[in-house]
Amino acid sequence: MASRRIVTHSPEETLAFGREIGARLKPPVLVLLAGELGAGKTTLTKGIVSALGAAEEDQVTSPTFTLVHKYDQGAVVYHVDLYRVGDFHDLETLGLEDFLTEQAIVIVEWPEKLSLRTTWPVLRIQLEHAGEDMRQITIEDNQGILEALGNPSAAVDQRPII
Ligand code: ADP
Ligand code: MG
Repeated sequence: MASRRIVTHSPEETLAFGREIGARLKPPVLVLLAGELGAGKTTLTKGIVSALGAAEEDQVTSPTFTLVHKYDQGAVVYHVDLYRVGDFHDLETLGLEDFLTEQAIVIVEWPEKLSLRTTWPVLRIQLEHAGEDMRQITIEDNQGILEALGNPSAAVDQRPII
C-alpha cells in the first residue's frame, strides 16, 4: 500500500482505524501523526497502542506535558507529543534518540517540530478536520509498512490516492 485516504465519521471509527493500523505494525517503526489540535491524533494512537497490546485504550492519554509516555505491556510503544515544545529541536536535544535504538514503535504527534534522521521505516499520517465529527486521514506509506492493510472495515469513503 503506497498511500491511502479515508474519512471517519466518529471518534469510534478513528479508534477502529487505529486498531487496524496497529495490528499491522512491527517494530521498529516510526509513526508520524500530523494535524492540528483536535484532529484525532491521540484518538488514533489509542487504537494503535491497544491493537499492539501495549496498553488498554483508556490508559493511553496525551503526553502533552510530559512529552513522552511509554507503554510496554508486551510490545514497547513510545507516544511522544511535541505540542509544547517551543522551538525546533532534533532527536538528540529532546533525548529521544535512545528510543530509536530499541525494538520499539515510536508514535510522534506534531512531528514537524522535529528534525529527523533515522534509518527506521517511517509511516506518515495526516489528520484533518472535515466538518463536525468527520476527519480525513491520509496515510503515506512509501516503504510499504502496511502492505497487508487491505481494505479496513472501519474505513468509509475510502479511496487510494496513489
Ligand atoms: P489531537 O490529539 O489531534 O489533538 P484528540 O484525539 O485528542 O486530537 O481529540 C480529537 C477530538 O475530536 C476528541 O474530542 C474527539 O472526541 C473528537 N472527534 C470528533 N470526531 C472525531 C473523529 N472522527 N475522529 C477522531 N476524533 C473525533
Ligand atoms: Mg494529541
